[in-house]
Amino acid sequence: MRFLSTRGGVEPTPLRDAILAGLAPDGGLFVPQALPVVAGETLHGGESLPEVAQRVLQPFVDGSPLEPALAAICAHAYACDAPLVPLEGEDADVLELFHGPTAAFKDFGARFLAASIGVLRAGDTAPLTVLVATSGDTGSAVGAAFHRMPGVRVAILYPDGRVSPRQAHQLGCFGGNVRAFRVAGSFDDCQRMVKASFADVALRADVPLTSANSISLGRLLPQTAYYAHAALAHPGPLSFIVPTGNLGNAFAAILARALGAPIGDVVLAGNANRVLPDFFAGDAYAPRPSVATLANAMDVGDPSNFERLRWLYPDEPALRAAFRAGSVGDDEIRRAIRDGEARHGRTFDPHTACAAVVLERLRASGDRGHWALVATAHPAKFETVVEPLVGRAVPVPAALAAMLARPATAEPLAAEAGALGTVLRDW
Ligand SMILES: *Cc1c(COP(=O)(O)O)cnc(C)c1O
Repeated sequence: MRFLSTRGGVEPTPLRDAILAGLAPDGGLFVPQALPVVAGETLHGGESLPEVAQRVLQPFVDGSPLEPALAAICAHAYACDAPLVPLEGEDADVLELFHGPTAAFKDFGARFLAASIGVLRAGDTAPLTVLVATSGDTGSAVGAAFHRMPGVRVAILYPDGRVSPRQAHQLGCFGGNVRAFRVAGSFDDCQRMVKASFADVALRADVPLTSANSISLGRLLPQTAYYAHAALAHPGPLSFIVPTGNLGNAFAAILARALGAPIGDVVLAGNANRVLPDFFAGDAYAPRPSVATLANAMDVGDPSNFERLRWLYPDEPALRAAFRAGSVGDDEIRRAIRDGEARHGRTFDPHTACAAVVLERLRASGDRGHWALVATAHPAKFETVVEPLVGRAVPVPAALAAMLARPATAEPLAAEAGALGTVLRDW
């Protein structure tokens, strides 16, 4: 399997190069040259998550150095479960993706990417720098996945003051080969700085860089596996409501369906950043500065994976007709968290709460289907939002508690690509 760019400007590229490059050289995002079909004989229920992952990902690693290592990579990346549990009081399930080391879905993709880079770099001597912009959860998942990995260092950029105290602590708790930078700006500034560094040919000659953002193929592809696994465990096609920011997780659900997994509808649940809801309601696609919300990992004003959605649905009317997207304000997020305990006996984190509100709206419009809400993070990561609403402390998962018990430090950084370049050169 080879990979092309969403912008059409690169030759068919082997998986190894596509993963290590992050962004395609023409500025686009890597996508598979052809969509393999993994349905039918190859996919069946009753298999474990690592087994389903192997079947789904096999065609993509075919002929690459990852092929002989795929079973081991999957055993590592999917060591934590992604259970589908019934939502009390509703004809719905919750797909819990928060049982990994940093209690958010990004652990799956980050661990797959780290294990893949470990295999791909075997024998390389020059250090590789993983550059990652985060609105909260990516940075800790990537930091945890690469922590203490020989020959690799990680620079995490996050918007100062715009992540929860526990998120900030997680980002700064690694030390060693992982450095956290608190940027005086927004997430979009962080993402711009990372993009500018990738575009800086001179910098890249001095400092070999790779990406771990959701644009990275090595994070996107593995996210298809838990959707396929959950859908196979359900009788009949399973529809998902996915909390959405950069559109990486939701696009993985859509890609899993395109590969033949028994997935029904995929509905996007966003916060007050309305770019996607407005587009699917009929407006032109109009990126804009992000606004800060309670669901901060989705504070994105220009979702990067939208390019991949356009690649999969080149016809714009067909694209608009294929998806629905809801925008959920902070007041509704608060209400859904408050109601979650009484109505469903569960505590939602602010992102999953957006999906819960979108389900309520579907019901209000007469929908009677069965849905899976995708729970993207554990509520204990967002204690300052959640605990006052539910009136009690939210128990902290053991892995998260261990990170919070370590000391944490972050370095201040101006919101300029030049400042980042200096730091990277002087490392
Ligand atoms: C990253 C994140 C999201 C958004 O995922 P995208 O792939 O960027 O759409 C949603 N919820 C949580 C908790 C996240 O960490």
